This record gives sequence, C-alpha cells and structure tokens, in this order.
Amino acid sequence: MRVTLPDGSERELPDGATGADLAAEVGPGLARAALAVKVGSDVRDLAAPLPDDGHPVAVVTARDPESLELLRHDTAHVLAAAILDLYPGTKISIGPPIEDGFYYDFEFPEGVKVSDADFPAIEAAMKRHVKADEPFVREDVSSAAARERFLAEDQPYKVELIDDLGEETVSLYTNGPFTDLCRGPHAPSTKRIKAFKLLSTAGAYWRGDSDRTMLTRIYGTAFHSKEDLAAHLERLEQARLRDHRKLGAELDLFRFSDVSPGSAFWLPRGTTLYNTLVGLSREMGAERGFTEVHTPQLYDAELWKTSGHWGKYRENMFVTESEDRPMGIKPMNCPGHAHLYSLQRFSHRDLPVRYAEPGQLHRDEPSGTLHGLLRVRRFVQDDAHIFCTDEQIPDEIALALDQCFATYEVFGFEPEVELSTRPEQRIGTDAMWDEAEGALERALTSRGISHRVNEGDGAFYGPKIDLHVTDSLGRSWQLGTVQLDYSMPERFDLRYTGADNAEHRPAMIHTARMGSFERFIGILIEHYAGEFPLWLAPDQVVVLPVADRFNPYGAEVVDRLRAAGLRASLDARSESVGRKIRETELRKVPYMLVVGEREAETDAAALRRHGEGDLGTFSVGEVTDRLLAEVAARETRWPQADPAL
Ligand SMILES: [Zn+2]
Ligand SMILES: [Zn+2]
Repeated sequence: MRVTLPDGSERELPDGATGADLAAEVGPGLARAALAVKVGSDVRDLAAPLPDDGHPVAVVTARDPESLELLRHDTAHVLAAAILDLYPGTKISIGPPIEDGFYYDFEFPEGVKVSDADFPAIEAAMKRHVKADEPFVREDVSSAAARERFLAEDQPYKVELIDDLGEETVSLYTNGPFTDLCRGPHAPSTKRIKAFKLLSTAGAYWRGDSDRTMLTRIYGTAFHSKEDLAAHLERLEQARLRDHRKLGAELDLFRFSDVSPGSAFWLPRGTTLYNTLVGLSREMGAERGFTEVHTPQLYDAELWKTSGHWGKYRENMFVTESEDRPMGIKPMNCPGHAHLYSLQRFSHRDLPVRYAEPGQLHRDEPSGTLHGLLRVRRFVQDDAHIFCTDEQIPDEIALALDQCFATYEVFGFEPEVELSTRPEQRIGTDAMWDEAEGALERALTSRGISHRVNEGDGAFYGPKIDLHVTDSLGRSWQLGTVQLDYSMPERFDLRYTGADNAEHRPAMIHTARMGSFERFIGILIEHYAGEFPLWLAPDQVVVLPVADRFNPYGAEVVDRLRAAGLRASLDARSESVGRKIRETELRKVPYMLVVGEREAETDAAALRRHGEGDLGTFSVGEVTDRLLAEVAARETRWPQADPAL
C-alpha cells in the first residue's frame, strides 16, 4: 500500500501496515516519539492498521496539539486503574479529556469518602501504573460479551452505557489490570505520561440527571513535561488568588446569598465600581449620539410571542401572571426597544434612532451553572439598539464598533475581531444576507481592522461581529458584539416614512461593549487582581493622621478632596501610622496621604502610592490636581502577571 505523508511525499508499506510501522519506516526517532496517527482529521491508535484510501497520514507526537487530549485521556484511564487498586468495589462511569485536563466520575463503596487529602496516595498509585509502562491494548468485542464482562465485575454504569450504545460491537482498552469501555484512541503505553496532577473533586450526577446517583468527580491534568505542568499550575494558582469571588468578598464589593441565587448584592464599594462603569458607557454613548431610555421590566406574554422569545427562549425566562394575563420578566432589552420604537412615528429624517438602556435583566439559568459574577441570573448589559435605514447601516456599524474599540482602549485591551456569517438555519433571503454580510465586512476593512471569519456562526436573524479580549492571565473573553437584524423590525412591524412618502422597514443593530456589567466586573477584578486604576477604585485615597491630634486636619483634607470630586476617607483610628499604611495597602487603595505636625502647618500631605511607597510631600492643592488629572485620563497600567498579592 502507498501512504501519503503531510508533506506530500509517499511511502510504500506492506498491506495491513500500522501507524507504528509507518513511524519506524520514517526513522527510529519518530518511532520513539510517536503517540498516535492521524488519518485525515481522525486521530487513531498507532497499532491500528492504516487505511488504504489515499487520505494523508500524519504521525502524532508530543509536538502536535492533538497529543495533549490523547495524553489526558490516557491519564484518566490510569486514574481509574489507581482508584480500583486503592478502593476495590468502586463503580466507574466515564472519564473524558476536557479543556486543560480530564476527569473521571466514580461511585465509591459505602462509607468511603475521597477528597484532595487522598490525592498523594492516588497519585502514587497512578505513578506505579505509569512506571510499569503498561501498553494500552484495544479489543473489539461483541456488546454481549462486553456486557457480561462488566456485569461480572459489578460495573453497572458500563452495562448501562453498552445498552444505550446499542451497537453490535464495542471497543475495550486495557492497561495493566484495568479494562475500560472506550472509543479511544490512546497512546501506545502509560509511560508516555510524563507529568500529571490531580486537582479537585466535585459532585456530579450520573448523566447530569439530578434524579440519578451523585458520583464523585476527580479532576486532573497532564502535560508532556514537568515544566509545562508547573507553568500550568502556576497559572491556576494566580487565577485562584485573583478569583473574583474571593477578592469581591475581601474588598467588600459584593455578597451572594441563597435567597436570590445568581444575583449579586452590591455593597457600597462594589456599587461605586458598578456606577463608574455605567458612567463610562453612558459618556461614550452620549458622545456618539446614543440616547438613554427606560423600558419596563415586566411584559405581557404577547410581546414575547411577537419577539419570538415565548417560543424559543421561555425556559430561560422568569414568568408570572397578573389579572390572568401571563407575563414575562425581560431577559434582554431588544423587544422593549423595538416596541418603544413602534409606539412612535418616524420619518427618514429622524433616523438613525439609537437607544441605550442599562436595564435590569433576568435569565433563569440552572443553579448548577451559576458562577460568581461570570454567570448570573440578574444582570445589566451595556447594550444599545440602533434603528436605521439600509443606507445608514455601514456608518452605524462603524459607530458601534468605534465605541467597542474606545471602551477596550480605556483598559488597555486589544480586541480580536470575528465576523460570523449566515448559519444553516436562518431567516431572510440570500440577497439580504449578501448585503448584511457585505456591510459588516466593509465596516471592518474600511477601518483596517483585521478579523477572522467564522463561517456559519451568525445568529439566525443576521450576521454579527464579536469582539474578544485577552486579560493579564492570558485568558480570552468574548465581550462586545455588533449584530445586524432584519427579523425583529419585521416581527414588530417597524416602519418609517421614506423620502418617497412610502412606508419602509428600518434595520436594527444590536450592540454591547462590555457585555454585562456583572461579568465585566468579574473579569476586571481578576485582570487587575483587585488593584483597580484610580478612576475605577472604590476608595481612591485614604488620609492617615500620624496621631489623634491631627485628625481634625485630616478631616479637613478629606473634605477638600471630596469637594474636588475624589472618593476620600479618613482613618481616624488610634493605631500606629505603620499599621494604618499596611492595612490600607491590603485594601489595595491607590493613594494614601500621611499627615502630621509639619503637614498640618504647611497645608500639605505626604503622598504614598499603593505598591510603590512614598512619593514625597506636596501641598493639598497639588495632590488634588495630580489625582484629578489621573482620574480624568482614566490612566491604566497593564497589571503584572505576578503581583505581590
Ligand atoms: Zn477512555
Ligand atoms: Zn438586542
């Protein structure tokens, strides 16, 4: 048989040759490094016979991105093997690779509780399997035989999986004493696992069904080298230290309570931060001709039927009723804005109409998916809707994009742009889509914005531009969006009178920059590790008298700073100034003003910056000007990857 390699060269191999044979044919180095083989885009075992179908064949080594998934899947099997060594009678369920690692779900025998405290012993047992260099051996057997085997081993989850698959044959993978029902592929042997670590446990219902057994999920990760693993663990540690839920509590920004799941209770400091971001959005919107509106929270089901939400989105809505009328709480602002438009009459001269509304939205997210501020039930979006003529679309899209870019610039984020085009399930004619996609494409290219195209990933009602940013921990977040929509104006029968005196349909553009303020604040807390730039910091400056007798002067300084518009407070406690400074540093307040005898006499203060220390003594007027200038410029610095936390 002839095999084509990725570089286009061909190799002659005996019929029935395997990926391992191919690697050996290329050279002994590749034979040692080989982990699997890729036929087309399909990763297969090295021991599997190669197909003779002309597909290009590539040998997968640790250098290939696919190899990490393979390695993590191998490690999941080794974990299950170790668990059965240590806890005989454990029932195993499934153990897939996931992004950044793997997990395996177990039902431990009665009375056995496994937690992170057991990880060292489990990891030691795993290392024994790795050291033993157990080959992963695949067998294809009849489902009946596999079923009998797992029944005999008292593995009911595997039996259920086999029954549900309903296949004639299934594949089993064995390493050492352990056999798993598994589709594969796997590396040749356990010794290829160079570095792994167990990370955490969690409860997980069998098949995600809350009526079934709660299993214990063990999460772990694996890498090709100890260095890669160490770097990953360091990133995880940084993320843990910066976890917005932890910092949010420590910095007194917000609390969560089970009386209202997924809805933050914003404390005064968090509310200041929140309002400052709303203020930024408001200011940038006003500069670009957006006007703010207020629309209701609760609407008759008829509105949601018109918008399509009652049919498609009702599961995620909170619904109620009033005087026998079914009502729904808004999960997004768009239908309210479209309805508000429909309550007025517009001529072409009135367009574009640009409505912004930082309104409260509620979505009934399953409680299991809620995650701090990143996934909530109650939130406010910085979204806006533009109603315009077809001719105005390019300029309006450019305007919306401009606000996205201006917003990210404030935080030093460099957005990556994605254009998503027509999906298979869509409404509207091809001509409409050609025009809409063309308008978005032109808006990007005319500004020289490089972008990726995501074919088929648009919304069913129109194409969209998504904006992603990367934070200081290297994590990517989708924040902004600009979406062109011909459907909502149709559904709400929106009109305007054209220059020809005839009725026309406006286009609708949905846009958001930060996404929801909740999620954006969650991202910012972790991005800045709680060390907010001055303009955002809830407490901007604390005045620290060196002794009680300077409290009156300190209070006077605070009054003057507040009068100038700065968020200032006095630390009037009878503590040493050293202690006051340390505690203010822990609260990550950007500036401190230390005042004593000399400062009180000369109307001055000694200025300290968080993390930097003493900046010298200045008059109160100079300090005020300096801080106001920093606030006005919304100065931001890219946070260090490794701050002293
Ligand atoms: Zn498997
Ligand atoms: Zn919208």
